[in-house]
Amino acid sequence: MKKINYLLIVLILSIFSSKAEVIDSAYVYNHYSAVADKIIAKVMSDSSAWDRMAYMCDMFGTRFSGSESLNHSLQWSYNEMKKDGLANPTLEEVMVPNWKRGKEECELLFPKSKNIKISALGRSVATPENGIDAEVLVVKDFDDLDKNAIFAKGKIVVYNVKFLNYGQAVQYRFRGAIAAAKYGAVASLVRSVSPVSFDKLHTGVMGYDDTIPKIPHAAITHEDAMLMQRLQDRGVIPKLHLHLTCQTLEDTLSYNVYSELTGTAIPNEILALGGHSDSWDLSSGAHDDASGCIAGWQVLKVLKEMGIAPRRTLRSVFWVNEENGTRGGEKYAELHKNEPHVAVLEFDSGVFTPSAIGFNGDSTYFEILKGIEPLLKRIDKDMILRKGGGGVDIGPMMRLGITGMSLSTNDFADEYFWYHHGPADTPEKVDPMTFNKCIAAIAVATYIYADLPINVIEHEQIETK
Ligand SMILES: [Zn+2]
Repeated sequence: MKKINYLLIVLILSIFSSKAEVIDSAYVYNHYSAVADKIIAKVMSDSSAWDRMAYMCDMFGTRFSGSESLNHSLQWSYNEMKKDGLANPTLEEVMVPNWKRGKEECELLFPKSKNIKISALGRSVATPENGIDAEVLVVKDFDDLDKNAIFAKGKIVVYNVKFLNYGQAVQYRFRGAIAAAKYGAVASLVRSVSPVSFDKLHTGVMGYDDTIPKIPHAAITHEDAMLMQRLQDRGVIPKLHLHLTCQTLEDTLSYNVYSELTGTAIPNEILALGGHSDSWDLSSGAHDDASGCIAGWQVLKVLKEMGIAPRRTLRSVFWVNEENGTRGGEKYAELHKNEPHVAVLEFDSGVFTPSAIGFNGDSTYFEILKGIEPLLKRIDKDMILRKGGGGVDIGPMMRLGITGMSLSTNDFADEYFWYHHGPADTPEKVDPMTFNKCIAAIAVATYIYADLPINVIEHEQIETK
């Protein structure tokens, strides 16, 4: 990483102002204090972001990649961006995966008959046409599976895994089919990834390994996983009938959507901010991630209404297909890598009290941007600027050397995962004032970073072909 030396700063400053000031965190705090107050007040007094988030969730159906309802919601957002008078509203074509859930049936056959609620995991293959009838092996984790490997052949492996945190529990959703098939299992089921359950299902993406047979993989409720665990603990081997018709069709057309607030001095330099437009097919995706998309858009709308813009262009982006492909993030990087980006910011952590702006870039700029920390504390007293941060959608840009930023939120009870990837992720779970605090934090951070009177572009890190 290159360091800016003092002389360079002075030289660059002379372009921007007649008197050379040192650009450091004190400058940032002093120079942007008043405008930050105005931005915060304006964001906090506006209810239109929540209204738009709810509209996006309520009016089109779920926004799963490959669905018409996703594309209808994107067309709506594009039209609304135009109505807002934002610059360069654009629908940019992206080919996305097209996995269809199909029919899902699961029944406990022994020791009693019981319907088992089930949700195939994204990418899963179907069962054979007449389904699978097989005995169950319940395991508590991968170690337990390894220890009981000799019992797995011909069975349906049920992962009854306690949720400690998302990163730990999601491994069974993602790698469960591979691990079970390695030992000859004919299908695998994972206890829904969530800290709590009221007989609910959590879906999400799963993976296969091309060297290992692909077996059907689906989620069941905590309650049914625990039932099968108790049966097995009593020495009773449960038997299931499982029938899934899910299939992967040809990739289909969808879009990234963006619009801009044109920079006042260096408009060709861009700070892109947003979230992902797609949701799971079972979910309205209010927290995940309609809110992230709308937040970035709202930053532009509010600044435009205030009649202000930073020196560089702010671009609000709805990246498509984060949930089961990252095609939107990849396409964005492919098409826009030669435009100088000062940063890409993603908000995809759920709408809770904002705790930090993450900054994953040059430490010199981090130290300068530290000046926003006291300004962020006006939104919430515990907010900080911290090193690190990123996101799935901005990953492809970050891998080209672009600075990544993100908003973190305080979700002490893991509340996000009560709703995540399921039918309960609906607008009323998003608190309007908390949402506005998140937007205010993103607005302050991006406005100031995009306005800094220093050359924060490191062109040599942008790969060109
Ligand atoms: Zn998400």
